[in-house]
Amino acid sequence: MGEKGTNNLVRELADHRASEFIEDGKKEFITCSACREQLVEIWMLRPEAPIITEMVVDCPFCGDKSFKKTIPGQYCLGHLESGKVAITETPTDVETTEDNKLLQKVHIKTARRDT
Ligand SMILES: [Zn+2]
Repeated sequence: MGEKGTNNLVRELADHRASEFIEDGKKEFITCSACREQLVEIWMLRPEAPIITEMVVDCPFCGDKSFKKTIPGQYCLGHLESGKVAITETPTDVETTEDNKLLQKVHIKTARRDT
């Protein structure tokens, strides 16, 4: 896959995230590896999609971060219902794996929000 194809797929994923929501998708929380606070939630959308995400989330409560979470396929990233954690930045590196999947490495930065 060339660079153009990669960009298109990333754009499709972004559109998908904005427009579609699968209600019975599986939801998981990513928690801090140190203080165990919940940080963000992930909804699985299409686990079979040829993309893998490695995600690390900064913890705004203790300054540590989550363990690295590997997510197969497309997903939707969400704020917690409690509203205690704001997602401020999601810098992402995209690579192609040997078996032609996209590997995106996402480092989510967060801020504490008092509600
Ligand atoms: Zn923490």
